Order: sequence, then C-alpha cells, then structure tokens
Amino acid sequence: MNNAIYPGSFDPITNGHLDIIRRASKLYDNLFIAVSNDSSIKSKLFTVQDRIDLVHSATKDIDNVKIIDFDCLIVDLCKKYQSNIIIRGLRALSDYDFEFKMALMNRSLNDEIVTLFMMPHERYTHISSSLIKEVASHGGDISKYVPTFVNKALGEAFEK
Ligand code: ADP
Repeated sequence: MNNAIYPGSFDPITNGHLDIIRRASKLYDNLFIAVSNDSSIKSKLFTVQDRIDLVHSATKDIDNVKIIDFDCLIVDLCKKYQSNIIIRGLRALSDYDFEFKMALMNRSLNDEIVTLFMMPHERYTHISSSLIKEVASHGGDISKYVPTFVNKALGEAFEK
C-alpha cells in the first residue's frame, strides 16, 4: 500500500487544508490526516475531538482519507501507519524556513522519509487557521475560507 500522512493542528480545518487533502488523496492509496494531540500545547481553540470531528465532516466524500490523532514524533507515526511520505502545504516564502528545517530533521531521524510539499490554489495561499480565528473573533466574514460547519463552530466558540 502506498500511504501518506498529512500532519497538523487543524485548529480548525480550512479550505486551504482541504485543497491540499484533495490533491494528496489522488496520489496515494491511503491518506492519513494526523491531528496533533500535543498535551503540552494548550493554546488550541478547539479540543482534539472537535478538531477531528470537523476534519471528518469536511472529508466525508473522500474515500481514502483516514483520520488519526497523535502525540509523538511524526517519523514514529510514519512507521506505525506504514508511510514514508509526509505531506505539507506550502503557501508563501514565510513557510519555507520552518518547513525546510522540519523536513531535514525528519529525514535525519529516518532517511527513508520524504516530505512532499504541495501548493494550494492561489485563493488559499494567504490563509491560516490563526488568521481565520483572528478575523472570526472580531466578527469578520470568513465564509469563503472554511466549510459552513466550521464557520458555525467558530461562531459558537467566539460567542461564549
Ligand atoms: P501547524 O502545522 O503549524 O500546526 P496547520 O495545522 O494549520 O499548521 O497546518 C498543517 C499543514 O497544512 C502545514 O503544512 C501547513 O503549511 C498547511 N496549511 C495550512 N494552511 C494552509 C493553506 N491555506 N494552504 C495550504 N496549506 C496550508
């Protein structure tokens, strides 16, 4: 089986993530979306279960997507799910520095691992979960950047 892993926080999933998921799912037999459950990072808006549920709703129509959570090295996750491929999205030059170091570190931990960078449609290259949350928290319209149920969940989160 030809598997790939797409790791991230997905706090929450956006149309940018979904764009990458659709492109990557066409290349592999199984695409594992790995939602980070790092207990040392407390600054998430949504719980890991909520983030998983939103990813699940957003990817229902894609047959070969599987959703997992993780709190370990991604190279260990790769071993567990029999994948040598890590998918990452590349938006602007500002992503490059961090992603470059991460890809080389993962390769030094396991020389078999390949990090594959994919570019989303240009309509999503300027968005991140953080920016979406910031705009949503002030009542701005983010409907073209997230699925409807994510928009609703953000509305509820910021109403509290
Ligand atoms: P992080 O890994 O910093 O927690 P995310 O969980 O938001 O960030 O992102 C996971 C992956 O998705 C990263 O590779 C990130 O570059 C990518 N990504 C996030 N937003 C977009 C977007 N709008 N277009 C393409 N890729 C994206």
